[in-house]
Amino acid sequence: MRKLLLQLDSSKLPSVFDRVVAYDGGADEVMSYGGITPGEVRDLVYGCIFTRGPKDLKNTAVFIGGADMAAGEALLAAAQQAVFKPFTVSLMLDSNGSNTTAVAAVAKMLLGAGGDVRGQRVLIVAGTGPVGVRAAGLFARAGADVVITSRKADAGERARDLVLKRFGGKVRAIAMPDANEAIRACERAELLLNAGPAGVMLVPKQAWANRSGLKVVADVNAVPPLGVEGVEAMDDGVTKEGVACFVALAIGNLKMKLHKASISCHTESYDIDVVSQTTADVARELMAPKS
Ligand code: NAP
Repeated sequence: MRKLLLQLDSSKLPSVFDRVVAYDGGADEVMSYGGITPGEVRDLVYGCIFTRGPKDLKNTAVFIGGADMAAGEALLAAAQQAVFKPFTVSLMLDSNGSNTTAVAAVAKMLLGAGGDVRGQRVLIVAGTGPVGVRAAGLFARAGADVVITSRKADAGERARDLVLKRFGGKVRAIAMPDANEAIRACERAELLLNAGPAGVMLVPKQAWANRSGLKVVADVNAVPPLGVEGVEAMDDGVTKEGVACFVALAIGNLKMKLHKASISCHTESYDIDVVSQTTADVARELMAPKS
């Protein structure tokens, strides 16, 4: 039976990137709809759950994307409301690649930290965007003591509340108005992730190089200047200045594998799931040493 993926995108034009990855991830047909609002989701989902019998629905899945994470979450909520047993299909949310990117970054950093971050201090610089919020949640769920920075105290607090509501754990927010404040912000960090925007350096070298207690530095910004000064885009666990470094192209490489593998799982499953959980499992599998 053909594997069908219903692509619901909150942006006007459904993402070509997500569509290509869907084909590469094993979908036989991708039905793409753009500019979708929550009120339109139910009938589109009904179109895919009532056409094939329940036993064949594992060959159908829904992918939700778009540039806006909040809009994507609203579409996911509407899709979750539309499905019911036995008419269940797998649902995957990855607005702007944020879930797969966050999972890839966290998986790499966990590897660099020896696999266990319970009680460890993780600093997420500019952690208020979609990637930072999800990475904070994954670390909090893994038992880390998470701090996110924002240029503005209120934005940091809103992001912290979002993480706590969604993932629980131990999360604080601090203000870091600019790169000059990074030295103070990084002082007690054991793991450091830059989740700031493309092309903005937020962590100068003196904030992290040879800092006692710091084990891992990661940066998801691939556009020069990188977010962390002194690392290189291809760094994939290389030790620099006493710290294991994981940078955007290495993280992006795992992100692409995860995205494809997640599509493949989602078109082979009935499970209603949100990608950060499933994708974290996929990441563990992809990164496990091959025997
Ligand atoms: P984002 O929402 O664009 O930015 C994250 C946070 O950065 C914002 O919430 C904002 O926080 C802060 N910020 C924005 N402009 C700033 C500026 N000029 N100076 C300092 N801080 C600024 O980020 P995102 O969508 O979560 O993506 C994070 C990073 O991941 C980006 O660099 C993106 O390119 C990268 N990415 C990589 C991949 C990959 O495969 N490697 C895939 C997707 C995304 P406050 O307003 O609270 O300070």
